[in-house]
Amino acid sequence: MINVIIAGPRGKMGKEAVSMVHNEGSFRLVACLDRKHNGETLKDVPGLPDIDVPVYENVTECFQEVEADVLVDLTIPEVGYLHTKTALEHNIRPVVGTTGFSSEQITELNQLAKSKNLGAIIAPNFAIGAVLMMKFSQMAAKYLPDVEIIEKHHDNKLDAPSGSAVKTAEMITESREMKHQGHPDEKETINGARGAELDGMRIHSVRLPGLVAHQEVIFGGPGQLLSIKHDSLNRASFMDGVKFSVEKVMELNELVYGLENII
Ligand code: NAP
Repeated sequence: MINVIIAGPRGKMGKEAVSMVHNEGSFRLVACLDRKHNGETLKDVPGLPDIDVPVYENVTECFQEVEADVLVDLTIPEVGYLHTKTALEHNIRPVVGTTGFSSEQITELNQLAKSKNLGAIIAPNFAIGAVLMMKFSQMAAKYLPDVEIIEKHHDNKLDAPSGSAVKTAEMITESREMKHQGHPDEKETINGARGAELDGMRIHSVRLPGLVAHQEVIFGGPGQLLSIKHDSLNRASFMDGVKFSVEKVMELNELVYGLENII
């Protein structure tokens, strides 16, 4: 049995994670970390399931009082970083979905995990299908170096291109020989028509209400096209990856950044 603490249980991802952990036979939800409802139990929190586990506001108090194996963090970067660091200091293995940690913070957490000989996972994308899409794209780019990425997201997204599109392009650069695509004399008659450029590849970002998180990687070669496409239709799509990570982190003794390194 793996004892799990979830930080951010009222959030969109946190709510899904609470249900997943509660319904998974080999996991036990032992506490939640929240900036509200300190001293209450989860079942007292409006909108959350009828589960009798304590809610803590203070991270140190929580980790001292509750026997836990894994912390799942689904909050905001500033708080998530403090939770992750404090978890490692208390010999609790962090599984972090919170995005936006700086590379310095990741390096520091990496060193801390190494010094404690403890597993930790930071995964900017928990959707297993999205991670496979990146890996398959990396394989294909070795043979089909002409590639364009089209990512589509809801119109509340602040960053473009998406982190997953950038990660896909970076992984492709590891197997593809650098190449400028399209006609050498091509000219944009409207600025931006050919999208963003990374290592000669093009990335296009679509933002529309109704979309969730979607990406298509299109490869072209003489007389053939290959499309690798992934759609996250809701936040449940991330829970297989959270479940996998909670199990996997128990076998690790260092920090892993990105699920593509362990699946
Ligand atoms: P959300 O619905 O806004 O939830 C964020 C949660 O964090 C809320 O419960 C919020 O509480 C809490 N929070 C905010 N400020 C806090 C603070 N100062 N102290 C403690 N808790 C605080 O967001 P979401 O969509 O669930 O996403 C959560 C995180 O996961 C984000 O970083 C997002 O980028 C990331 N994400 C990752 C993946 C992945 O695959 N890895 C997928 C989707 C999202 P309040 O309601 O009180 O503000």
